[in-house]
Amino acid sequence: MAKLNMETIVSLCKRRGFIFQGSDIYGGIGGFWDYGPLGVELKNNIKRAWWRAMVQERDDIVGIDAAIIMNPLVWKASGHVDTFSDPLTDCKNCRHRFRADNLKGWENPEKIACPNCGMRGTLTPPRDFNLLFKTTVGPVADEGSIAYLRPETAQAMFVQYRNVQETARKKLPFGIAQQGRSFRNEIVHGDFIFRDREFEQMEMEFFCKPGTEDEWHDYWKEARLNWWKQTLNVSDEHIRIKVIRPDRTYIEGPDPDDVKEEKPPHYSKGNYDLEYLFPMGWSEIEGIASRTNFDLSAHANLSGKDLSYFDDETKEKYIPYVVEPAMGVERCFLVALIEHYREEQVKNEKRVVLKFPYALAPYKAAVFPLLRNRPELVEMARNLTRDLKTEMMATYDDTGAIGKLYRRQDEIGTPFCITVDVQSLDDHQVTIRDRDSMEQVRVDVSQVKGWLGERVR
Ligand code: ATP
Repeated sequence: MAKLNMETIVSLCKRRGFIFQGSDIYGGIGGFWDYGPLGVELKNNIKRAWWRAMVQERDDIVGIDAAIIMNPLVWKASGHVDTFSDPLTDCKNCRHRFRADNLKGWENPEKIACPNCGMRGTLTPPRDFNLLFKTTVGPVADEGSIAYLRPETAQAMFVQYRNVQETARKKLPFGIAQQGRSFRNEIVHGDFIFRDREFEQMEMEFFCKPGTEDEWHDYWKEARLNWWKQTLNVSDEHIRIKVIRPDRTYIEGPDPDDVKEEKPPHYSKGNYDLEYLFPMGWSEIEGIASRTNFDLSAHANLSGKDLSYFDDETKEKYIPYVVEPAMGVERCFLVALIEHYREEQVKNEKRVVLKFPYALAPYKAAVFPLLRNRPELVEMARNLTRDLKTEMMATYDDTGAIGKLYRRQDEIGTPFCITVDVQSLDDHQVTIRDRDSMEQVRVDVSQVKGWLGERVR
């Protein structure tokens, strides 16, 4: 298939109700999006798949759900208040604003041309711009009431580490996982939902004994890469790992020469960034950071609370080291759409199909009566839909000819379409059509729920 462009995905999302511009009727607001009826299902399915792999199926990880607004001292200790910034540059000619480190040669802006208007020597020297969203808490808005919308979910896991460890009676190594909203006042939002100002993160802090962190870092790199390949069905050519060590940056996987030198963030001794081949190029979808004991030590220092761990077996006391796999739901959403979008030629007609893994599909099944003017067929189809809905997301549709109804479901990735026809009234069988092969089988109506359940579970 020809290289997919982002516009195709944007238009599908709008047309079919996956995603709308936030505050649409007022002209929108940059970096904020609303998820429609299909979008919310896809998002929930992504979150469920992650939670299943990271919490449900494991003995060594538990979940939490913390408040978005935390004591501002949390962000002081973590370094966000002082250092959570990106370099910003403005063009004095066209007034366009850029994140400077995205421009080649940005360290010397006077030597490069503005990517928007092409003028040379018009970019201002880069200055730091803090990405924290500020708000105030309580009735009086003054210096003492300033708080921040969290820019990451991770800090709650550090701040609550002690409470969770004691109440869940966990011994090291163990992890705390969380999913939730994060906010960053990004200088430039864009590439559709790739870079947002409000987004959802899924993060896990894995606490381990100092000295074992490199082993766990490699373990989580493999585990997370496999999750993307097995749960999202991402092909080997579309995903790679950027290894960021203090002394060098290199790629494991496709296009190894397409890389620029980076340093790990201030809290990390090394990062594995998982990157996906988006239409705009290789870009980060998940970061796996080796955060040392930076965060727990910083919180212990500022709060004055002891956050060390006593190891019963070795009788040692230490502050745990932490390995963190952190990803964004929206980027995963975009990967699911791009990776599984297909345009196929069927009998001289174009069919657009989203070949989602079944677990991600917003609807697992759609039910149609072949003739909508036959009340017995409509009733049988409606009863079947109602029954399926007790176990899975299913939908009923009778608003077009059967070919059109199939195309509609293909385009939103529904794995199975079920048609009730005149013969169904006699033999109690219905036709189930497979989204990918388009093959059809007849199944007894009483068996349909079980038949589908086996396949979509
Ligand atoms: P980038 O370099 O793209 O700005 P980051 O390194 O700042 O990302 P992290 O702080 O490591 O990102 O956040 C972990 C994950 O959260 C990212 O891999 C990404 O999936 C998601 N994420 C971060 N910022 C955004 C954003 N502005 N919009 C959507 N998702 C985001």
